[in-house]
Amino acid sequence: MHSELEQLLILQDRQQKIRQIQAEIETVPLRRKNLEAQLAASESAVDTLKQKARQIEVDRKKLELDVGTRTEGISRFKTQQYQTRKNDEFQALGHEIERYENEIRKIEDDELELMVEADKVKADLSAEEKKASGVKESIARQTADLDEKSKALQSRLEELTKERAELSSKIDEDLLGLFERLFKSKGDAAVVAIEHGVCTGCHMKVTSATAASVRAGKEIVSCENCGRILYDQ
Ligand SMILES: [Zn+2]
Repeated sequence: MHSELEQLLILQDRQQKIRQIQAEIETVPLRRKNLEAQLAASESAVDTLKQKARQIEVDRKKLELDVGTRTEGISRFKTQQYQTRKNDEFQALGHEIERYENEIRKIEDDELELMVEADKVKADLSAEEKKASGVKESIARQTADLDEKSKALQSRLEELTKERAELSSKIDEDLLGLFERLFKSKGDAAVVAIEHGVCTGCHMKVTSATAASVRAGKEIVSCENCGRILYDQ
């Protein structure tokens, strides 16, 4: 094989690795964001339940106060009943007392419901907190892994970039220019094998003259269809 072709193939291998690593590095911020979002969602689930528990407590206290005011009202009415000598007033007070007592029963039912709900929320919260602590640990571990991986990719990229610069400096400028243009425009490879007279870049048959000069390996030959540089396997 043409010695420059060998160098180009090595260069191409490094460039392909560089491209792969760069693509991987580009996914890092999104993966990091993803981890942060998972953590935030887990924390928010705990917060929501904590808030729910606080609200239930507030509602419960309010119901307690409501019962308190009605209880006071009842004892006030009873005192008034004791003091009055008018029958209709006595009865009216009796109705009020009855009304308050009914209201108290209803409020106490609501209180009971809230207490049941409070127990449920408490259990949910404890489960969610346990889950969140697991998530936090896992996210911390994954973030550390990602940091480590990101660092490793970065240093591998630096190595490859250095290697590429060294390789490039040994290749003829015009040939290097052609290679770079092809590598950029083709997206996959600038230098490809010829197999059974077919360019493996564009999968088209090359002319027998082209195939022959590739086999001879004395000069750089391009595929007449796609322009990629050809080599014989
Ligand atoms: Zn081709």
